[in-house]
Amino acid sequence: MNLYIDIDGVLLTKQGQPSPHLKEFLIEATTKHNPFWLTTHCKGDLLHVTSHLKRILPQDLWEYIEKIKPTNWDVLKTDGINFDQDFRWFDDAPMESEKKLLQEKGVLDKLILIDLKNNPDSLKDVLLKI
Ligand SMILES: [Mg+2]
Repeated sequence: MNLYIDIDGVLLTKQGQPSPHLKEFLIEATTKHNPFWLTTHCKGDLLHVTSHLKRILPQDLWEYIEKIKPTNWDVLKTDGINFDQDFRWFDDAPMESEKKLLQEKGVLDKLILIDLKNNPDSLKDVLLKI
């Protein structure tokens, strides 16, 4: 399945630290699924996103983040989603207009909200859903 993955507030906490259970999440996402970045750190190319993450994440995680593919989008993150294929989108703060678009397409349930503040184990819990 295609997975669309945000970084800030999802893979990294708001404080910029790696989220709990990040390694298990990345292993699952990159070995069993087809993962894509859907983050302001990536608009069409990988250079910025991977160098940004390599500054923060330990080296044993680099091989997984290198398997995640780029998306290209402009205003709405939903422009980076391929709606012809099944997907899950992991994000902490989708915009109302993005949620409305998902609703109109009947795929709002594909959006998986990550709330690390209220549930630090969010990444572990969502592993059960993908
Ligand atoms: Mg975010």
